Amino acid sequence: MKKKHWYDYLWIWSIIYFTLGFFNILFAWLGMIDFLVPVFIAVFGRNKWFCNNLCGRGQLFALLGGKYKCSRNRPTPRFLVSPWFRYGFLAFFMAMFGNMVFQTWLVAAGASGLREAIKLFWTFKVPWGWTYTAGMVPDWVAQYSFGFYSLMLTSLLLGLIMMVLYKPRSWCTFCPMGTMTQGICKLGSRGETQDS
Ligand code: SF4
Repeated sequence: MKKKHWYDYLWIWSIIYFTLGFFNILFAWLGMIDFLVPVFIAVFGRNKWFCNNLCGRGQLFALLGGKYKCSRNRPTPRFLVSPWFRYGFLAFFMAMFGNMVFQTWLVAAGASGLREAIKLFWTFKVPWGWTYTAGMVPDWVAQYSFGFYSLMLTSLLLGLIMMVLYKPRSWCTFCPMGTMTQGICKLGSRGETQDS
């Protein structure tokens, strides 16, 4: 039997993270760890160690879809694996991230008021005001929390839908973080080949 490591239980962290967002939206900032660590590992380690070992979300899909059989376990549609879809989705995701940062900047500049709501699937506005007491932090800090949690929760829900319909980790085939870190690793190894 494969020896268990502490990082095999990071799926628990994923559950804790999303639960905290139901009580205090400011905890959303902790999700930046999931954004920065994989990029850091890809840039300096030139590998996908994060995806293979540290991603709590990927572990959660594997656990629910595998051990708990919440997945139909059907093959992932081929178009989802194609480079044009994966890089297209990455571009879309980054554009949405950029828009979220822009909205935060508008609030910081006083050009827009704080919106105590999250947006699911970039479309459905859900009131989320009970998770924040006005004045606790500067408005832009809270606005970023609402925006970032929206992105995180949307990607979790997309991943869960993919898990149910197809293989447990089908989301990983076009997850923006996975595509981005893979791209960074490829660029790094191409650079090494050219240097040698
Ligand atoms: S592809 Fe995305 S969800 Fe899957 S393990 Fe990597 S970072 Fe996690």
